[in-house]
Amino acid sequence: MDAVCQYSSYSILSIDPIDPDVTVLFDLLERLSSLTRVWFREHPLLADLQPIQLSALMYLARCNRYSNTPLAVTEYLGLTKGTVSQSLKALEAKGFLIKVQDVRDKRSVHLQLTASARELIDAVMPPDFLVAAAQRMGARAGDLEGLLLELLRTIQRGEDVPGFGLCRTCRFHQSSASGAFCKLTDEPLEAVEVELICREHQFDEVSG
Ligand code: SF4
Repeated sequence: MDAVCQYSSYSILSIDPIDPDVTVLFDLLERLSSLTRVWFREHPLLADLQPIQLSALMYLARCNRYSNTPLAVTEYLGLTKGTVSQSLKALEAKGFLIKVQDVRDKRSVHLQLTASARELIDAVMPPDFLVAAAQRMGARAGDLEGLLLELLRTIQRGEDVPGFGLCRTCRFHQSSASGAFCKLTDEPLEAVEVELICREHQFDEVSG
């Protein structure tokens, strides 16, 4: 990926803590988002996938069992039901996902990625350019992850937006010697689920 970042002269350190220049912050987020879109668009393995189809696959590869419904995909992507429904049908036709009826609620379906979809997502995620940059940044990449998590948490607390977040950062998440547990659903969680995205996620109101 040889895209040139014209914002390379910007620095997080240039943001005044008293009066932050949020325009620059927005520019940086938008530029990173744009670079990512270009990288995916030019990836040879993704030539047959529309951006929305790829976004749906990436979400379904990262979400937990409470969050893999067509409605959750629609909410997460922030698109219309019709648009998402068409994309899910296309992914089903391409053999990337299957619909499975909920065992308790027969009206509800869950979307499961097929082995070929998992293989595709594993091959392109996380993007090579991001892995390389994070390795060059070293420990500061971890600091940045913490700051971005704080930014998301702050936005979600201040705005009426869907709560999608990582299970291990949820206020309903409990861990003990016998394993992880969800206090909202009253169900045990498998170790792998702790690192997945959940639509019911809520940050702790005080310390989050
Ligand atoms: S602990 Fe929170 S994020 Fe995890 S499954 Fe329960 S509601 Fe979802």
